[in-house]
Amino acid sequence: MSDQLIRSLTPEEARAEIERLRREIEYHNELYYVRGEPEISDYEYDQLMARLIALERAFPQFLTPDSPSQRVGGTVTRQFPVVRHEVPMLSLDNTYSEAELRDFDRRVRELLQNRPYDYVVELKIDGVAVSLIYENGLFERGATRGDGVEGEDITPNLRTVRDIPLRVRGEGPIPARFEVRGEVYMRREDFARLNEARQEAGERTFMNPRNATAGTLKLQNSAEVARRRLRFFAYWLRAPELRHGTHWEALRWLREHGFPVNPHARHARDIEEVLAFIAHWQEARHGLEYDIDGVVVKVNQLDYYPILGETAKSPRWAIAFKYPPDRAVTRLRAITLQVGRTGIVTPVAELEPVVLSGTRVERASLHNEDEIRRKDIRIGDWVLVEKAGEIIPQVVGVLRERRPPDAVPFQMPEQCPVCGSRLTRPEGEVRYYCPNASCPAQVRERIRHFASRDAMDIEGLGERIIDALVSNGLVRDASDLYRLRVEDLVPLERMGTRLATKLISAIDRSRSRPFERVLYALGIRHVGWVTARALAEHFGSIDRIAGASVEELMQVPDVGPVVARAVRAFFDEANNRALVERLRAAGLQMEQAPSRALGKGPLAGLTVVLTGSLESMTRAEAQARLERLGARVTDAVSAKTHYLIVGKEPGSKLQKARALGVPILDEPAFLQLLKEAEAGGGGG
Ligand code: NAD
Repeated sequence: MSDQLIRSLTPEEARAEIERLRREIEYHNELYYVRGEPEISDYEYDQLMARLIALERAFPQFLTPDSPSQRVGGTVTRQFPVVRHEVPMLSLDNTYSEAELRDFDRRVRELLQNRPYDYVVELKIDGVAVSLIYENGLFERGATRGDGVEGEDITPNLRTVRDIPLRVRGEGPIPARFEVRGEVYMRREDFARLNEARQEAGERTFMNPRNATAGTLKLQNSAEVARRRLRFFAYWLRAPELRHGTHWEALRWLREHGFPVNPHARHARDIEEVLAFIAHWQEARHGLEYDIDGVVVKVNQLDYYPILGETAKSPRWAIAFKYPPDRAVTRLRAITLQVGRTGIVTPVAELEPVVLSGTRVERASLHNEDEIRRKDIRIGDWVLVEKAGEIIPQVVGVLRERRPPDAVPFQMPEQCPVCGSRLTRPEGEVRYYCPNASCPAQVRERIRHFASRDAMDIEGLGERIIDALVSNGLVRDASDLYRLRVEDLVPLERMGTRLATKLISAIDRSRSRPFERVLYALGIRHVGWVTARALAEHFGSIDRIAGASVEELMQVPDVGPVVARAVRAFFDEANNRALVERLRAAGLQMEQAPSRALGKGPLAGLTVVLTGSLESMTRAEAQARLERLGARVTDAVSAKTHYLIVGKEPGSKLQKARALGVPILDEPAFLQLLKEAEAGGGGG
């Protein structure tokens, strides 16, 4: 709403509009902060908020302290102990426009009355803000922002974030107590893996990495948190004793004391340099390994902060510039069908190519027939495409007013576009299936899944080669892979002896993959890798799983009736049993190796290394206790190690762990870990 429009409102109209906006914003706050299921994009939300602020400014008689424009949006759920922040954790004012950024600079200059100042510009990492308290050099307590005044104590979960130093490193005096704030986030790759696994396990997927991070930090099971590989960037330090004059110096101190500070932060002399930084990252952000939603601009001189001040919601010495979402309008040329490995048929939008988030997009997901109908998407329409979480392009809407008269509503075909089988739609499901298990599209997808990184991890067996193998009739199911010889491959296009030899040896190496991966690789519907591991651990062998009843399968933690029935149905099918036998004959692992039979319990998934001698127990005892809780104890420190436990007179492992940034636990911290795990099993 423009200023002029606002001024033309009567006070009564303004009040009604303000109340409506507040209700709407509160509704979206609840969806976003509490349920983690936002219905609108951040951009749309920020526009609602901007309108509310403009109205309250024009009609200050209606401004009340409980307005969402005056409060930090989050809440405290009471699922964790509540902590009061020593200094409130505020939000940031935001803007999408250069002009408003220049206004911000002008206000700063006026308030500072011509004192010289400059800026620090940082990427605005799209994650979750946390506060970390350090005492005597050790990480003591970590909390969420909550409502800004009170947050939730999520220390055990934060201890599993490998970038968060458990102990401060580096030279010089270290304050007895200080606070670090920063952003916990998930890298795009880890997010994609997590969602893929959830999708396969039939669980709800997360909207974006920020959402996944927030959900993960609220888990009651720290071992599961550890598995999700959260990361951290520090961007704020409260340590008055250090008498830092600038934010830039504080960032340097953090970096020098073991805190990960985003390497792209820059010092900017004036607003022009700030704008240049913003312009650069507009495009460059797509090449990052994590999502950012903008740039944070902070006045560098800490002494000026009291002069500039803050509102109850946000400081006046900083502002966030946000990039508008990547959306584009293009033409929907056709809707085609994609057939997945379990036969699920998904409609896909074939688009006139557009550039979105720096990449060329010509296909986008349409989910299912009902969704297409709900959005009334027709072939020939001009559609709005958005890249959600920078990953999967989606058709978010139709430009009705531009609909050409010859646009055609979508009609779900009756037959599989690849093999011609009649499609089925099970009752109560929104999806269609191709019932023919030998449909070439399904075969290709099954092989692709079988060879993928979390499954058999066959290096070099990519889409192009799989296509060639399937269409040449060399491979009809996964067991055929193990019969391939170099001579079979050489005639394929763009192959050659060298590549063929490499591929055959990669296939060969995959025979030794542990049973849980083989089970996952089979591609049983609803069995993602988490479920596959749980089944493998519970039953120990394929024969026992194949012989288990639905009730017995449901004894496994997290296996409900849907998954249990899917497993049962898989092994009831003679073709699948025959496939398992062929894979067994090819030498694949069909039983859980004895050492892997561990790995259940509250510390499952953690890999731990011990060094030096402990006072309260022997190394063997420590190992046994860890293993009883499900952790894996190994001899060598690597980037995959979750913790190094350090006793007296540690060996070279300590240095290695430091170099790799592996968290180090001393004996008291180790005992604490054991105590927590043994007490509650880490919770639910
Ligand atoms: P914000 O996320 O816009 O900005 C403040 C946050 O930025 C900080 O708390 C911190 O977590 C983060 N940050 C990242 N990098 C930083 C850095 N280098 N320095 C300082 N901070 C950094 O504000 P908010 O109060 O957390 O959330 C409000 C925003 O959330 C809204 O503007 C909107 O975009 C979104 N939201 C969306 C919906 C929806 O329905 N889509 C609902 C509510 C809120």
